[in-house]
Amino acid sequence: MDDASREALVPRYRFTGRAEGDLAPGALGVDERRHALAPMPWTWLHQVHGAEVVVVDEPGAYVGARGDAAVTTTTGAVLCVTVADCAPVALLGDGAVGVVHAGWRGLVAGVLGAAVEALARLGAGPLRAVVGPCIGPSCYEFGADDLETLQSVLGPDVAARSREGRPALDLVAGVRSGLAAAGVEQCEALGVCTACSHEHWSHRRSATTSRQALVARVGP
Ligand SMILES: [Zn+2]
Repeated sequence: MDDASREALVPRYRFTGRAEGDLAPGALGVDERRHALAPMPWTWLHQVHGAEVVVVDEPGAYVGARGDAAVTTTTGAVLCVTVADCAPVALLGDGAVGVVHAGWRGLVAGVLGAAVEALARLGAGPLRAVVGPCIGPSCYEFGADDLETLQSVLGPDVAARSREGRPALDLVAGVRSGLAAAGVEQCEALGVCTACSHEHWSHRRSATTSRQALVARVGP
């Protein structure tokens, strides 16, 4: 690909909230809401908190595939992961974009490293990451044993305290650690806690099946 066509392929991304409506696959009216956000073929995933990455090589490919990350360099392909407390992570490169559903299980499984590797194979160059709204440590009380396991994989920074002073997980710290291990140092976190924000859905707050999304594509 020559430089001019590369330049036209700017990575674009958007974190939705309740205002854009429920984007959970299978939600009533979700097709219309997707179309309103981006009138192009979407790829959404059957998310399982694993480390499988889908490489979308044509618009709308791999719809409903089992996976927790998608990457593309294809114009007109809309990628999406849906969340309600887990971290949506946008990976932005040179004419390439990735979306990652990063909860603690996915972090341990290595989903961030797998997505970064997939983008490297597409020639995405240096990446930067943006972490969207996800549950914050104040609201994310966590079992001490599980926290210990996470610390052994992701480092000491993931251990935090909840508002009540109990052991808690700092998910964004886990994302930063996973990205750093994959060689991505540039990471911006929006700092919005889904359990505190009434503009977002939170599974921890209300056990909802509704989901906000990270929606991304490359293009003009
Ligand atoms: Zn909170």
